[in-house]
Amino acid sequence: MTADPTATATPDTDWYDRDTRTIAGVEKLRFFPQVAATGHGTYLITPSGRQVLDLSASWTASGLGHGHPRIVEAVTAAMAAPPGASLLSGTHPHAVRLAEELLDLVPTTGRHRRGVYLGHAGTDANDVALRAARNATGRRRIIAFEHGYHGGLGTSMAISGVHIDAGASPEPDLTLVPYPDPYRPWIDPDTLLADTMALVQRHLADGDVAAVIVEPIQSDGGVIVPPAGFLTRLRVLTRKYAALLVVDEVKVGLSRTGHLMAHHIEDVVPDIVTLGKALGGGLPLSAAIGPASALDTPAASALMTTIGNPVSCAAGLAVLDILRDGALAHAAQDRGAQLTEALRHYAASDRPGAAHIGDIRGRGLAIGVELVEPGTKTPDPVLAAKAVLAGWHLGIIAYPVRGNVIEITPPLTITHDEVTTATHLLTEAIDWAALGHVTDDDIAPYSGW
Ligand SMILES: *Cc1c(COP(=O)(O)O)cnc(C)c1O
Repeated sequence: MTADPTATATPDTDWYDRDTRTIAGVEKLRFFPQVAATGHGTYLITPSGRQVLDLSASWTASGLGHGHPRIVEAVTAAMAAPPGASLLSGTHPHAVRLAEELLDLVPTTGRHRRGVYLGHAGTDANDVALRAARNATGRRRIIAFEHGYHGGLGTSMAISGVHIDAGASPEPDLTLVPYPDPYRPWIDPDTLLADTMALVQRHLADGDVAAVIVEPIQSDGGVIVPPAGFLTRLRVLTRKYAALLVVDEVKVGLSRTGHLMAHHIEDVVPDIVTLGKALGGGLPLSAAIGPASALDTPAASALMTTIGNPVSCAAGLAVLDILRDGALAHAAQDRGAQLTEALRHYAASDRPGAAHIGDIRGRGLAIGVELVEPGTKTPDPVLAAKAVLAGWHLGIIAYPVRGNVIEITPPLTITHDEVTTATHLLTEAIDWAALGHVTDDDIAPYSGW
């Protein structure tokens, strides 16, 4: 970097070094020496007082911004007089109300009665959903999509293409199908959707499939927006072959795409919908919503002591309350359009990094910027690593997914002016990387995905 590497340690580097000596198991997802002491709205603030614009929102877990006053108020009240810490052997109004509201907001199948599992993370919500599907159908096979992401432990991990790409053992009864990626179609682009559906159908026709699990936008797989009709056709096929359709809304659900649920862009009623990340407003909270006949069974239950934790549930209720009037869904559309337009303008310019932009895509405030070698579609993950490191030094947080795609998922509360600043800094960062201001040595300490 152009910054002087011999400069004396700041409080920021000191915390990062102490983290390196003490914290286990996260090294693979570090992209730059990010340290924050506090946060406020769209900003994280380092111990030395530097304000950094957060375009990740902690991978969307702070989807409504850091320290949203209404969430703080709800959490503070719940924590000051908590009705215990667990839902296991006794209930409390926070969990019951949250479940009722989720049932209201998220249509699924379930003719007689529907239910909500309230967990800690997308990982356990998806595990529960798949256990429920297997138990309800008496079948074992799961169809998931290549390069998908559904969680970091257990079955959720073992069906995640991203983990399997990285060498994890796949679930024994797993079939991975290519996701219909319009930018990098696995087959003739004119027949991409039809051929993908034919492949799914061929596997479903074997009759042993319990569930198809799908992300409405494949996020960690590269922010891939599938062609229109994909979810509708998955719904038709899963119904025909009596498999459950599990829609994983953990990352792009809850208004990020401009719709309360990303799958609402099509007229689809899933069997099970899973939520997480933004649902907790910064606290651990997830949900699986679907037919009680599947979810409300011993086989699907997850006996973890603090599931339905009242403080997390109070945060979840505040999040739903904030989203209720639809204003942030609209804002996601407007700010997303502003961001996308500014980035397209940059890509069409003669600035140093412009020729490295292969594609800009997304929906609302779930945006991917794909970096490639100029004039080709060859992914350039090294350039992406350099660009996000430069971004950190310039004052933004954005992480790469699938190696070469910079994912932009800021808090939905991001303002017009903050988007202007963000695109200025992001394009500057891509220019820096393209101009060679960031070296291979600079990025060597960060292994990324
Ligand atoms: C992050 C993510 C998960 C896993 O959620 P965790 O809270 O990290 O366990 C599942 N599905 C999708 C689509 C995600 O982005």
